[in-house]
Amino acid sequence: MQDCIFCKIANKDIAADIVYEDEKVLVFKDVNPAAPVHLLIIPKRHMPTLFGLNEDDSHLLGQVQMAAVRVARELGLGEQGFRLVCNCGREAGQEVMHIHYHFLAGRPFQWPPG
Ligand code: AMP
Repeated sequence: MQDCIFCKIANKDIAADIVYEDEKVLVFKDVNPAAPVHLLIIPKRHMPTLFGLNEDDSHLLGQVQMAAVRVARELGLGEQGFRLVCNCGREAGQEVMHIHYHFLAGRPFQWPPG
């Protein structure tokens, strides 16, 4: 989508610090990190929120989670673990309207989240 910043990153129209990429999924560093490791995992295809998914997208969501595990292994996070968060909609805190998962690691996290 033309005006979507994450589409522009996926299309390499603007720069990002990319840590993993395959045909469907892109992983890059968040510009405003909330943890020592803060990555964003996006499907390359534009969808504003999880509400745009249909039954055919279940494989895509599996690929997102597999990308998270792959990156976690590469970063040596097998012991500490990581948090994967998807803010869906305004009240959940979603600001960029292209589905993305926050991959957070490198410090302890609280529960419940704020
Ligand atoms: P959310 O509030 O869930 O929509 O999160 C959007 C995230 O995108 C925030 O953590 C931002 O710091 C991050 N972000 C926005 N623009 C960029 C960018 N150009 N490159 C990397 N991360 C970005």
